[in-house]
Amino acid sequence: MLELKDIRKIYQNGDVETRALDGVSLTFGNSEFVAVLGPSGCGKTTLLNIIGGLDRYTSGDLVINGTTTKDFKDREWDAYRNHSVGFVFQNYNLIHHISILENVELGMTLSGVSFEERRRKAIEVLTKVGLEDQLYKKSSQLSGGQKQRVAIARALANDPDIILADEPTGALDSVTSKGVMELIQKIAKEKLVIMVTHNEDIANSYANRIIKLKDGQVIENEQDPKSVEKERGYHPNATAMKFSTAIKLSFTNLKTKFGRTLITAFAGSIGIIGVALVLAISNGFQGELSSLEEETLSTLPITITEFPTTFRGGPPVGVNDDQYNDTNVFDPITEDDLIEHTNVIDDDYLNYLENIDDKFVSSIQYSYGIRPLMIFLDNGEYYNTFDENIMPIELSNSDAYLEGQFSLEAGEYPTEATDVVIIVDVLNRIDANIIRFLGLDPNANIDFNQAIGKTIRVANNDDINLDFSNLLSSFVSRVDEDTYNNGINLTVVGVLKGVADGLETETSGLYYNDGLDDIFIENNIDSDVCADLSSTEIGDLFPDERTKKSFQHMYGCIDTPQLIRIYPASFDEKDEVLSYLDEYNIGLSEEDQVIYTDLAQQISGLLGSVISNVSLVLVAFAAVSLVVSSIMIGIITYVSVLERTKEIGILRSLGARKKDISRVFNAESSIIGFFAGVLGISITFILSFPLNNLLKEQLTGFGNIVILRADHALYLIIVSISLTFIAGLIPARIAANKDPVKALRHNE
Ligand code: ADP
Ligand code: MG
Repeated sequence: MLELKDIRKIYQNGDVETRALDGVSLTFGNSEFVAVLGPSGCGKTTLLNIIGGLDRYTSGDLVINGTTTKDFKDREWDAYRNHSVGFVFQNYNLIHHISILENVELGMTLSGVSFEERRRKAIEVLTKVGLEDQLYKKSSQLSGGQKQRVAIARALANDPDIILADEPTGALDSVTSKGVMELIQKIAKEKLVIMVTHNEDIANSYANRIIKLKDGQVIENEQDPKSVEKERGYHPNATAMKFSTAIKLSFTNLKTKFGRTLITAFAGSIGIIGVALVLAISNGFQGELSSLEEETLSTLPITITEFPTTFRGGPPVGVNDDQYNDTNVFDPITEDDLIEHTNVIDDDYLNYLENIDDKFVSSIQYSYGIRPLMIFLDNGEYYNTFDENIMPIELSNSDAYLEGQFSLEAGEYPTEATDVVIIVDVLNRIDANIIRFLGLDPNANIDFNQAIGKTIRVANNDDINLDFSNLLSSFVSRVDEDTYNNGINLTVVGVLKGVADGLETETSGLYYNDGLDDIFIENNIDSDVCADLSSTEIGDLFPDERTKKSFQHMYGCIDTPQLIRIYPASFDEKDEVLSYLDEYNIGLSEEDQVIYTDLAQQISGLLGSVISNVSLVLVAFAAVSLVVSSIMIGIITYVSVLERTKEIGILRSLGARKKDISRVFNAESSIIGFFAGVLGISITFILSFPLNNLLKEQLTGFGNIVILRADHALYLIIVSISLTFIAGLIPARIAANKDPVKALRHNE
């Protein structure tokens, strides 16, 4: 069944040429027990490796069942070793990190035998060699003789035609040797056994044919087989290692080096931790931002003014890169670009607003644009805000807005239409004129509480002197007892301050409740001043309708609002409000449409893009550490390749393809990558607790900032596996290309 024709093997090491085999011609039958004898270095192992397809002859031919192997490809040699040859080595060559049962099964996994069949067969051969009670032990727990029996069982497992044994008793004592030799002798009844030995006694006692080698040549060849059977031709099935086998081999190997695997995975996880933290923080910030939007920005109203004025294109709020004009040409804005629009805020529109679903809005505020003249009586003297250079400001009475934007420093929040409050800035600063106006000494230390309870009167139109010929100062100072006594009575009820994360931290001043509008308009809409303002005589003094109208608003002559503020119930409901407002405009001519402004949206858009840009930069930095750590895993995989050289040789001798070997190491680096990823995500998760506490202390008013998203975590684990897989490709290739013969001789 086997025929060697003038086989030569020449090793070329630089200039030195070693003729390991020098024209060997032999024929072997189907069941023979052949002993190959010869001194050390005569080429016995080389002969065996060539017969077993582990090494390639330099010239000559090896004929298997009448089929020449001259044109054999790698894949055919692999299949030959797997199906037809079983190796038994002097030093057993078991893989020590898997059980002996798994060692025996390994060759069968390569030829795709099913699990049950594999188990059954492995137990059968192990029983045959007398090891049925040792199935689940590791090779390190066995004696030399037992190890060699495992190796014989492994060689028999795939039911090969040829058993090649290289000094199988070389490392055993004589008693143990006897057992092993009897076992081999029994096997030789059914198979071709070629055994290399330098022990002539053993050869004589057990073998039925002896071949002697010297310096790579056959010097004695006892007998040729009596009958050479009909040759059947030779076509073994290709072998392939399943990916699950590769994973298992790597996994058990990593398990035996648990400490090192852990350290490797930890080192690999550092990059993952970096990226995960950045992602978590940016995610947390985005989350905080949206709750900031919800809490703070939602208290900002949608505004509708009588005369919204915008420029072409609008102001550049929240600009991003692709909006930049990349030419060097000026774009002049002229008056023609001023889009002037008049919002017709009539009863129709007001009714429409009133009909909005209550659950969408917390309140709608109407501002009528009055400019009240306030008077304070101090020691019989009347002081007014015009002369004192004070401009009282209207304050919305929306509870959500007031409590969201201002903290109460003294007194109480305004509730009544006649309530007045003082708002100080974050440093408690306030216009000295306001302090003086309230009859207090700005140079003394005035406690907030001293302002509470002060009363102020608002003058009605017909009680003061007005002259519209000078529009800039239509009020001519004349405030007397009558003016004061007829005035609307207001009370200072509180002192407020803008909250830290609010939007009103800068605006200090004297504020009146917007409910004052109704009282003031009711008192003054029929006043002489209002009649005058609508007369042609005075009306002609104004440059345009718009200016005239704002004067009419100032003096309370118009009972439709100049400005409407709509406070959405929450951030989520804002969109509903906006679409309700948009609905009004459907089908209306451009002229009749009512345009609104949504400041909250403009602000949040700007913040959002800043955060995502910053986190992009940070992710890029962290990614560098990710790459560095995967290169390190690549190096560690290479170290593992060096350590597992022997295992590579064993696998190849069992018929594993180069591809299967690289698969084992790719599996190993992927497993490390997986653990690095999982470890990195876990560490990030654990770190997020102290980090959140720390950040919460530093950034008042913020909630949890380090929040790792589940999908990010999953992606990072995949990234970790992919990167380490890529880093492990080169070491895996190196492993695959190792010469199996050299790999088996490794550490000998
Ligand atoms: P044996 O098994 O009979 O002791 P080997 O078959 O191992 O001998 O070796 C036969 C000869 O070939 C020896 O001289 C050995 O030094 C040489 N040899 C074996 N392998 C190599 C190799 N990879 N490179 C160079 N010489 C080698
Ligand atoms: Mg040898």
